[in-house]
Amino acid sequence: MNIAIIGAGIGGLCAAIALRGAGHQVTVFEQAQAFMRVGADINLTPNAVRALDGLGVGAAVREPAARPTHRISRLWDSGEETSRLAMGDSAEQQYGAPQLTIHRADLLAALASAFPLENVHFAKRCETIEQHEADVTLTFVDGTQAQADLVIGADGIHSAVRATMFGAEQPRFTGVVAYRAVVPASKVAHVPDLQAFTKWWGPNAESQIVTFPLNRGRDIFIFATTAQASWHLESWTTRGSVSELQSAYADFHPDAVALLHACDEVLKTALYERDPLPHWTQGRLALLGDACHPMMPFMAQGAGQAIEDAVVLARALSLPDSDLGTALTAYQTARLARASQIQIGSRGNQWLKAGGNADWVYGYDAWTVALA
Ligand SMILES: Cc1cc2nc3c(=O)[nH]c(=O)nc-3n(C[C@H](O)[C@H](O)[C@H](O)COP(=O)(O)OP(=O)(O)OC[C@H]3O[C@@H](n4cnc5c(N)ncnc54)[C@H](O)[C@@H]3O)c2cc1C
Repeated sequence: MNIAIIGAGIGGLCAAIALRGAGHQVTVFEQAQAFMRVGADINLTPNAVRALDGLGVGAAVREPAARPTHRISRLWDSGEETSRLAMGDSAEQQYGAPQLTIHRADLLAALASAFPLENVHFAKRCETIEQHEADVTLTFVDGTQAQADLVIGADGIHSAVRATMFGAEQPRFTGVVAYRAVVPASKVAHVPDLQAFTKWWGPNAESQIVTFPLNRGRDIFIFATTAQASWHLESWTTRGSVSELQSAYADFHPDAVALLHACDEVLKTALYERDPLPHWTQGRLALLGDACHPMMPFMAQGAGQAIEDAVVLARALSLPDSDLGTALTAYQTARLARASQIQIGSRGNQWLKAGGNADWVYGYDAWTVALA
């Protein structure tokens, strides 16, 4: 098939690699001028890393990534440890892949290296999508058009493909803001368990600080959330105030506070989400990733679910003796319930608070999950 993918983010590029590998002719249309070094951390739990391994990018992803040793829960005030899961080698033995933490730009670079760049068209913001019986017409804001047999909406939380299917509707502000900062590990060497993924559970569900290694452990990434109904700016690049960050968590345990006091700069964004959708496909259109299930970051599954979608969609479109409608139904049937469950679970922010079994999330294999 001639397949157009809208969006060269993590989900779009994974779908492009998988679908090209399955023999389809794939073109990606991305609104940005080029791949840019925007954003910071992406947390790849074993389910996501195993899916990436199957795409053939495992080595390229591991090279710049860090590999957290554990997943630790601590209480915000006493510092009491309420759970500790071994990751690293243990996760590799249990789930067939480790957890990796990586800069989003490094992950995009690894994915881009596995797909021909000439098939990625930048500065192509898709504006309208018209379905016909035999194909789909895409119109971009520069006035150009393209035709495809199938269009995949991998165009993120403000998806134009989603709006075509369901009508325009803004995502909902959650009342929660997130601070993101990176500090050199050498600056905070006295803080214990720096190479672990540590979650400091705050006094309420909105309040938490997560820290983990980045850039092969040379840096420590800090991701802190708190309720703040007055801040609505959704941005991956807006600077926040370091003193505001430090005062918001001043009562946290000294180990957490020490990390915040090592920050020289911080990014701040409002967190938005949507409700689960009743279906992800319509005729010659299919959604994946944040286009159909944007979620809160509390289960660290935003990227992972997009990657799983991409693999399962490519597998469904390769089913023998199946027409497009059957293939897309198989994709939706295999994916919608799981991603929706994780989308809802991410809202509650209770995942692994007191330990528990992570197998249903980390043990999922997008390459072998049954397709109806
Ligand atoms: C610039 C940026 C930085 C991010 N940084 C982080 C981060 O640091 N940490 C984190 O946890 N998550 C980050 N995210 C979100 C994270 O990547 C996603 O939640 C997750 O990976 C799901 O990926 P996705 O491919 O579904 O969506 P996205 O990663 O959002 O990718 C969607 C892509 O579609 C493009 N696009 C959107 N609309 C159109 C259109 N109409 N026409 C053409 N192209 C379009 C976007 O430019 C983008 O490249 C970032 C997202 C973006 C866009």
